[in-house]
Amino acid sequence: MRDRIEIYGRGRLPPRLDTRLAEHFTLRCDPDPFPPEDWLARHGASVRGLANASVTPLTADLMDRLPKLEIISSIGVGYDMIDVDAAKARGIIVTHTPDVLNADVANYALLLLLAASRDLILQDAHVRSGRWASDGPAPLTHRLEGRTIGIVGLGRIGRTLAKKLEVFGGPILYHGRSEQPDVPYEFCPDLYDMAERAAALVLCLPGGAGTDGLIDARVLGALGPEGILVNVARGSVVDQPALIEALAEGRLGRAALDVFDDEPNVPQALRDSDRVILSPHAASATVETRTAMFDLTADNLIAWFCDGAPRTPVPECRDMR
Ligand code: NDP
Repeated sequence: MRDRIEIYGRGRLPPRLDTRLAEHFTLRCDPDPFPPEDWLARHGASVRGLANASVTPLTADLMDRLPKLEIISSIGVGYDMIDVDAAKARGIIVTHTPDVLNADVANYALLLLLAASRDLILQDAHVRSGRWASDGPAPLTHRLEGRTIGIVGLGRIGRTLAKKLEVFGGPILYHGRSEQPDVPYEFCPDLYDMAERAAALVLCLPGGAGTDGLIDARVLGALGPEGILVNVARGSVVDQPALIEALAEGRLGRAALDVFDDEPNVPQALRDSDRVILSPHAASATVETRTAMFDLTADNLIAWFCDGAPRTPVPECRDMR
């Protein structure tokens, strides 16, 4: 029965996911995030599941071209690119891959934070350019021990990071929409106040309409000329032009960015700035974590078509099991 179910692989499916899905289903892949008309004419009416490997918007228009679609299983924990309301309205359940990536994303945030506070990239350039030999040591940097760190979004990843930051002994603050009673960190309902008090802000919250441009010129200014911004969340959370301006004018000290508006395009101003560390949306990109993410993406589809109970629906779809 199951081998006749057709699954649409949207975007470039990684080989492991492709192989696992092909064991259970008939796969209809197309790298185009909105497949061409001839593909839709051939497969649109028969696909019942979708494995999503694309970060481009998955819209109601596309769902309407897939009338038998029951489930969207997306790689990654963030699902801001999927119109979940439209999916629910059409009876389509959406799943994602939470938790399996917490450790790696938190480690990467910590790596970026340490690299920014110790100017690791500049130190490397100092050696490679020969300036160490000609000019002597690079300028001194700042320690992380004892410094106040603000986490924006104390969820699965934010909490994992906070635990790791405890070893540095400084105050850990967090901002979100609500206070969490079970953590030993200080809740800051006002993001601006938290930015003023913190040496660094680490962004660990979802993208989407609710957080668009949350880190604006005012927050960046409050973080200040010695302040560090680390973003492992989504590019949309930060007002990117305001960030570029704050860095250029020295109103913000450093930025370490894993995510951007309009990926994979990164503005030249950021690429040229020596106050910025750039990373290509790689926080979860280890063999171990990506394997777990791909397997969970496959498991959600398999479970849905076996017993109607996918392992990790997004919160908005938990009542659809
Ligand atoms: P969770 O849902 O567990 O946590 C999200 C946190 O954000 C919650 O604590 C929530 O707290 C807070 N939050 C939500 N909305 C707002 C808001 N409007 N203002 C302030 N805080 C808000 O998600 P995860 O920790 O699993 O993942 C977080 C995000 O990290 C993902 O959505 C994704 O965008 C990003 N990510 C990036 C990766 C990368 O490769 N760079 C890899 C994995 C994830 P509250 O409800 O109290 O507001």
